[in-house]
Amino acid sequence: MNKIILTGDRPTGRLHLGHYVGSLKRRVELQNSGDYDKIYIMIADAQALTDNADNPEKVRQNIIEVALDYLSCGIDPTKSVIFIQSQVPQLCELSFYYMNLVSVSRLQRNPTVKSEIQMRKFEGSIPVGFFTYPISQAADITAFNATTVPAGEDQEPMLEQAREIVRRFNNAYGNTLIEPEILLPENSACLRLPGTDGKAKMSKSLGNCIYLSDSEEDVRKRVMAMYTDPEHLRLEDPGKVEGNTVFTYLEAFCRSEHFIAYLPEYANLDELKGHYRRGGLGDVKVKKFLNAVLQEELTPIRACRKEFEKNIPDVYRILKEGSEIAREVAASTLSNVRKAMHIDYFEDNDLIQSQSFNYGKAR
Ligand code: ATP
Ligand code: MG
Repeated sequence: MNKIILTGDRPTGRLHLGHYVGSLKRRVELQNSGDYDKIYIMIADAQALTDNADNPEKVRQNIIEVALDYLSCGIDPTKSVIFIQSQVPQLCELSFYYMNLVSVSRLQRNPTVKSEIQMRKFEGSIPVGFFTYPISQAADITAFNATTVPAGEDQEPMLEQAREIVRRFNNAYGNTLIEPEILLPENSACLRLPGTDGKAKMSKSLGNCIYLSDSEEDVRKRVMAMYTDPEHLRLEDPGKVEGNTVFTYLEAFCRSEHFIAYLPEYANLDELKGHYRRGGLGDVKVKKFLNAVLQEELTPIRACRKEFEKNIPDVYRILKEGSEIAREVAASTLSNVRKAMHIDYFEDNDLIQSQSFNYGKAR
């Protein structure tokens, strides 16, 4: 069986460190590993519209931002197909058929959608499109026969839902769709990177992000203002590293060579944590170290982005070509789906013949 990746992001803003550690960095590694037969990366504009129907301009403007973030992190359009969801109308048709395989109560149980509804204060008036986006995501994944979806932990319920749809479809109509697997980050700090304010998730919607394209100064300011241990007031106080965002980010980003370069008095993160716990280590020192680590990661990305920003029409061309390829692949899956569901009437000679026979007999 071919190994195929499908993954993507909503164009509701530029991409941030959460996207980077949760999925984007991994995608680049997987792309360059050569282990995958095909890689599809989708800018989910149609999904972004499900909770931004009154602000389509925001979605429209952010498509290029997400594309620039992809390219500057190393997504290579000669190796991966980057496309825009709305340019592949076959995905809507697949969703329409999959909707018959999912109950309303099943959708209501999805914990990610539940918390997103709360966050967006949608309780009384949930847009139908938003409520059903897990089904549309199943269409996105299965349209490309994806086996693997590299994503953050919040996507687990979506993958579960997609697998259920695949099983129900294959049971009802015969083996047609591939059951996908989620590929979570190996490092547990990256499963759901917290915001700089210490809130559970760095998220565009919460305004607690460090963006991949932030300037060096903006990153430094964000880091210096980050949430730590509120009870660690004086240098000599013992501090907590659990739930301390600066340490969570260090777990996500720092490697032993960073200590050699920027903080040689400690051999590794465990030693740094030990000192913080005992007391005598100030937040500023740890934050300065984190800033150095992040700047090392982000400087090449920033520089690469500047280059792509010089040729915006070229980026749109990449998206157009990717969308054309995506359309062909999705059309082929849709054709298999229609055949399996026996709604390919005009290609179905058996149907036409048996109906002719029935009517012939009746006469
Ligand atoms: P929005 O607020 O518009 O929903 P978002 O910041 O949650 O935006 P998405 O576009 O919904 O971002 O997520 C895209 C991908 O990035 C998904 O795979 C998701 O799991 C991952 N991701 C987003 N935020 C984080 C995070 N803080 N930690 C780990 N992964 C994340
Ligand atoms: Mg999200």
